[in-house]
Amino acid sequence: LLLGLALTLALLLALAAVASRRLRRRRIGKLASSLPGALAGNPIRVAEPGEIDDALRARRCICGGFLTSLGERSEVAEDRVLRVVRAECNRCEAEQSVYFDTERLLH
Ligand SMILES: [Zn+2]
Repeated sequence: LLLGLALTLALLLALAAVASRRLRRRRIGKLASSLPGALAGNPIRVAEPGEIDDALRARRCICGGFLTSLGERSEVAEDRVLRVVRAECNRCEAEQSVYFDTERLLH
């Protein structure tokens, strides 16, 4: 009986560890996607394309590292043209897209 209890306890602890790790990862992902520019629906507004470099430097990664641009492309979202910068963090090396709205309308 005691062995069964110990096994049950060990199993519960293992499950709790997995659950808390999963919760932590989800929280980080949620936090990362709430940063400005992380999603096409929440772009960083810049007055002109020349300001993108400065805005990217100010934006930072979720870990606090600086982002380095790997390249840019345009993406059409609703009636706007967004600039999407592929960026890599210099600390955690996570690749991420940062969306910028240069207020250029499609029409
Ligand atoms: Zn990072």
